[in-house]
Amino acid sequence: MAATALAHIMGKLPSFSITLVESEAIGTVGVGEATIPQIIGFNRMIGLDEMEFMRETRATYKLGIEFVDWLRLGHSYVHPFGTHGIDMLGIEFQHFWIRGKALGDTASIDEYSIAAMAGKAGKFDWPRPDTKSPMAKLAYAFQFDAARYAAFLRKKAEAAGVRRIEGRVVEVEQESETGHVAALMLDNGTKVEGELFVDCSGFRSLLLGQALDVPFSDWSHWLPCDSAVAVPCTLGGRNEPLTRSTARSAGWQWRIPLQHRIGNGHVFASDHLDRSEATDLLLANLDGEPLAEPNQLSFKAGHRARAWEKNVVALGLAAGFLEPLESTSIHLVQSGIARLMSLFPDKSFSEVEIARFNKETEREYSDIRDFLVLHYHCTERDDSDFWRYCRNLEMPDGVLEKIEMFRRSGRIFRENNELFTEASWLSVMLGQGVVPLTHHPVARLLDETETLNRLAHIRKVIEQTAQQLPTQDQFLQQRGGAMSPRERLSA
Ligand SMILES: Cc1cc2nc3c(=O)[nH]c(=O)nc-3n(C[C@H](O)[C@H](O)[C@H](O)COP(=O)(O)OP(=O)(O)OC[C@H]3O[C@@H](n4cnc5c(N)ncnc54)[C@H](O)[C@@H]3O)c2cc1C
Repeated sequence: MAATALAHIMGKLPSFSITLVESEAIGTVGVGEATIPQIIGFNRMIGLDEMEFMRETRATYKLGIEFVDWLRLGHSYVHPFGTHGIDMLGIEFQHFWIRGKALGDTASIDEYSIAAMAGKAGKFDWPRPDTKSPMAKLAYAFQFDAARYAAFLRKKAEAAGVRRIEGRVVEVEQESETGHVAALMLDNGTKVEGELFVDCSGFRSLLLGQALDVPFSDWSHWLPCDSAVAVPCTLGGRNEPLTRSTARSAGWQWRIPLQHRIGNGHVFASDHLDRSEATDLLLANLDGEPLAEPNQLSFKAGHRARAWEKNVVALGLAAGFLEPLESTSIHLVQSGIARLMSLFPDKSFSEVEIARFNKETEREYSDIRDFLVLHYHCTERDDSDFWRYCRNLEMPDGVLEKIEMFRRSGRIFRENNELFTEASWLSVMLGQGVVPLTHHPVARLLDETETLNRLAHIRKVIEQTAQQLPTQDQFLQQRGGAMSPRERLSA
């Protein structure tokens, strides 16, 4: 992603050259398949054709995440992309929904989201932003084969002039005076010199963590899951355009349906469950036949204290990791690239610009952390030590205020342009059982009958619109995004 984007935007500058060093022997982390809507902007920025991308990466659409058993066993809700209902009388929709509840409306907030309803019905179409249709309120993302995405981007990067070298970095040379990285030594004897190094070496954090020794801020007391086991399986079950997250006794299981297979994984806390039990639980809960040996992974929640140090900028896992509960890691790569572009250095490596990069990166990580912690903390589950730990953990400051404000009056404020919008907080707070006591007084300007009638009308229009959409399969076939029947057979 970094090489392609840098080549696309910066590569046109005279005397600008990009070298990509990768090691097939080491390979990539091999997981990471669900995204959030911002990826559409990234793909457009690097000039990808959406249907070519869908075919090449065997992608499906994603309209949100279905959370199963998170509040209590047997309960589920959707965190959809896009927004709910219609704002009325100058206030947000949720206030009318809260009032409707008090008046006896039993519909869940999901029924007021076109993305949730289309997702559950297995339907998909592109948003229609300039219309009065509920489709104006829909947003979408992709679920794709990450290895195929990397290979696809590699071709694009090389076509845009990136020089790719296969080899393993075995030594990092630093300038004696400044400590800046001067060159990488590869196992085949090649020396790669450069002025700016983008560390995309994954959990190893080869340059930032190892060579420059930037410490890791550990957030595992807030996010205790530290392990995962992943396995793809054949297609089976319902394959709606939704990622599914099912809470388990010491973590949760993901299910990401692609065109040719389903990606599955079990994220868990090793203090509460051992690896073999976690693997058995995953294998017992697949909708198809396993297609590979389970891939075992370990990690720690948190991030490097500074993602940019001297002449090294770390992206992706080299910069930090937050579990994939809300599919944010690929987005963090993308936003890191965007920040690097806007603060692209000259040879002086201005401390002010580096500090700004680090401040914004830290804020983005902590905003996402807060949103993730919400899922764990607000739950009725107390059926395992893990859930009891999560219910009782001390929350980061900002989250408590948000929850308290919502619980009192249904109000939600988005801080500093944080990644997750009011609509996301609304879905997850309600889904996790945070129920507002009251609503904005303006919602009472509609009388009781009018409130219930309007709510019923909005629900009906959303339901009808969702039913009229093509299925995801039809959409992919009609638009040219489906893999060919021959590829399907050999997949
Ligand atoms: C369990 C799990 C589930 C995830 N699910 C999601 C998800 O659903 N959505 C999402 O957005 N993200 C997810 N992620 C995160 C996502 O996988 C990563 O953000 C993404 O794949 C980017 O990884 P990366 O490029 O930073 O690291 P890697 O994929 O590990 O790539 C590191 C690269 O560095 C190279 N390298 C390393 N050492 C050397 C060396 N010495 N010499 C030469 N080359 C070297 C490797 O060969 C490789 O090419 C998940 C992560 C985990 C652990």
